[in-house]
Amino acid sequence: MPTHPPVISIDFDGTLIRNPYWSLHLKPWLLSQSPGENKSWQDLWELMAQESDWRRLHGDHTGAYDWKNIAGEILHASLPDPDPPSRKDVLALVYPDVWDFLTWSFRHRVSLHVVTNGLIRNQWPYLQALGWDKILTSWIGADSGFAKPDPRIFQRISGLAVHVGDRLAHDVLGAKRASVLAVHLQRPWQKEDNRGWDPLSPAGCHADLTITTLRQLPELLTQRICTTRHGKAGWV
Ligand SMILES: [Mg+2]
Repeated sequence: MPTHPPVISIDFDGTLIRNPYWSLHLKPWLLSQSPGENKSWQDLWELMAQESDWRRLHGDHTGAYDWKNIAGEILHASLPDPDPPSRKDVLALVYPDVWDFLTWSFRHRVSLHVVTNGLIRNQWPYLQALGWDKILTSWIGADSGFAKPDPRIFQRISGLAVHVGDRLAHDVLGAKRASVLAVHLQRPWQKEDNRGWDPLSPAGCHADLTITTLRQLPELLTQRICTTRHGKAGWV
């Protein structure tokens, strides 16, 4: 390992956990709204997703992920903030390969940052329920004013060397644009979600490393990390 522990950012939904805001809050809320609106929850969601896409295309990164605001504007309904969830419910959504990776990160004093396109206001209850607020160095969301693949979402993380995530359109493209090692997590059973391609993106976007489980990451990163003459972490 290098003299200075590496600085790594990692996506939240679909990478560390099955989107808890969606599973435990937004989808149940859509189901509860469906009878009164006389529309299926899928139709209600489609309306919200279309508004989100429109906002993203027009550069409103924070607004594109502000589901409370979108629900008010598009469905004229009041979507509450999530209540503190039960730890058991959130734990059930964490991917099993996450724990070994977190243990490795902690043991090697990796500076680990969550970079998510969700608003931290919406992700925070779940991070806190898992106790991850105690082990992460920072957490950055679209509340910062930027969202992946805009590289500016990474700009607050000093010395960032690697970003890991499940979406080519957001994580890999954002990492490439931020000039950090782009690691694509492609779990075999997960289908790539191609929504949200940036219109300025190249036709193809290739990861520097592709992994099928987070368990592969420690060894691959250790192989790639070297110590430069100046004692800083570098990449071979
Ligand atoms: Mg994701």
